[in-house]
Formats: sequence, structure tokens, C-alpha cells
Amino acid sequence: MPTFKHVFGPVMSRRLGRSLGINNIPYKTCTYSCIYCQLGRTRNLSIERRAFYSPEEVVSEVSEFINNVDEKVDYVTFVPDGEPLLDIRIGQEIAEIKKSVSKPIAVLTNASLLFREDVRKDLLDADLVSVKIDALTEDTWKKVNRPHPGLKLADILKGIKEFAGMFKGKLVTETMLVNEFNTSPEELKLIVDFIRDLEPWRAYIAIPVRPPAEVYAKPPPPERLVEAYTLFADKLGEDHVELLNLPEPPELSVYGNPEVWLLNLVSVHPLRLSHAVRVLEKVVDDPEGLIRKLIDKHEISVVTFADEKFIVRRFS
Ligand code: SF4
Repeated sequence: MPTFKHVFGPVMSRRLGRSLGINNIPYKTCTYSCIYCQLGRTRNLSIERRAFYSPEEVVSEVSEFINNVDEKVDYVTFVPDGEPLLDIRIGQEIAEIKKSVSKPIAVLTNASLLFREDVRKDLLDADLVSVKIDALTEDTWKKVNRPHPGLKLADILKGIKEFAGMFKGKLVTETMLVNEFNTSPEELKLIVDFIRDLEPWRAYIAIPVRPPAEVYAKPPPPERLVEAYTLFADKLGEDHVELLNLPEPPELSVYGNPEVWLLNLVSVHPLRLSHAVRVLEKVVDDPEGLIRKLIDKHEISVVTFADEKFIVRRFS
């Protein structure tokens, strides 16, 4: 069984079904350092687009996985440990993947680089693009997303609108609600009015359900969540709004070396300990032993959040 460096999963996703993830960015290289980020604080805050990995390597892993390991994949998804559009070759990668496998391609982006024409063009061949819209006011944006100082919110919002006007695939939005930060009725109204003008296929509302970068990034109480949902549904229509208020279901199967599989997965998705054990016990005799070994090697940690234990990747 080959070992994969850039593809992981597939994971079951509410939005995308069975999604094969592509990690095209070095760990925590991002234009934002969101207070709720499940990967911790951004280590490399950058807005410079660069070539990180060989596109041939990324594309050949995707085609190897789908053609020789498991073809039951609904989407091939760029969902890295950072902002995928910092990869200057993403347009080329999307085009090459489309040639080599007949699967739809999704890109989950924070949208902060959509003010650039080259970035908007790079995304045109994707089948689904998810853009992050957490704030419409400068103050809230800076507090929640903690952007690179070279970014301007007004430019980003203009870029998102331009992209929405030219993109022929499914455009979806994702708004993470962080209690007391972007949950005021005024902020929510601005957000939903902006989203309505984009005419997205779906607007997703999410809440922090995994250990966040900052402990103070908490989900809103249920009544505030319902209030937000109602506002979105009133303006966009119920069919166009969904809550993403639960962690994605766990990994279905282990592929290749179980240790490498677990490390690849938890570097992108902190995983509930109970789910990891349940999936691993299908392929190893002692899943707890395997997890303990990785803890002893300082590769992973187990942390508690909202009374649940999660496995997270350690990088130091
Ligand atoms: S949540 Fe996404 S956009 Fe925000 S810091 Fe983490 S990787 Fe970057």
C-alpha cells in the first residue's frame, strides 16, 4: 500500500459527502490567524503566493488513490493546513487533476486573496468553492480572523463579489459564529445581507466544535445559534442555509500504514479519541497502544475540549 504525503481521508463531510482531502500547503501557512482555528495559531502569516510542492506529485497521489486504492470519492477537496490559494500552482493542479480523474473538485478557502485577479482565475475550473465570511465590519474581522496586516477587508469583499459573478460552479459560504465576537444582531445582519447578494448555492453556519487556537473562542449558546439560523433562513430561504454545528463524522477506513494515516488525518482534523479507536481497531490489535506510542514520540497529544477528548497533531 503506498504512503501518501499530500492526500488524506477520505473523510465524510456534510457538505461534500466522501471527500478526499489534498494538503497543498505547509503546516499553518495562512493569511489569517483565526481565533477559532483548530490548527492553533498561524506560524507563517503570509500573503505571498508561492510554489510549495511539485504539482506532478500532488496530482499523481490523487490519481493513484482514486485509481488504485479507493474510487468511492464524491469530491477531491483542497482543504490544507492553511490557506490553499497561497499555492501559486493551484490552478495548474486543478486542471491536471481534472484531466486525470473524473471527480468534482472543491476548494475551501478563507477568500482573503480573492481580491487578486490571478486567484479568481485559478478557481474557475473548480466545481465547488467555499468562501469564509465571518465579519463585515473591520473591527470584528480583525478580532476574529486576525488577518495579515497587508490585507484590506473592503478589497476582499469586493473580490468575493466579483468572483461570485463569474464562477459557474457551486458557490457556498461558511460563517463561523464565535460567541460575543461576531454574533451581535447588527453584525449578523450585515453578513447575511452580503451573502444574499452573492446568491450562493448554500450558506453554512458553523460553530467552534474542536479545540480552538484561543480558549476564549467559544460557540454561541443554542438560542443565539437559532437566532442566527432564523435570520439567515429568512433572508436566503431555508433551502439555502445549513448548520454545520457538529464535527464531521469520523474517518471511514484506514488506508496504508495506520500510524501515517492517523498522523496525516489529525494534522488537518483533530479527531475524537473514541472515533479514532473505533476505526483503528478494524486494522490493528491494540489501537490504544498505537496512540500511546505516538504520544510518547511527541507526534500527537490528547486534549479535552467541551468534555470530549480529541487527538491533535504536535509539531514542536
Ligand atoms: S481557520 Fe482557516 S483561515 Fe483561519 S487561520 Fe485556520 S487555516 Fe487559516
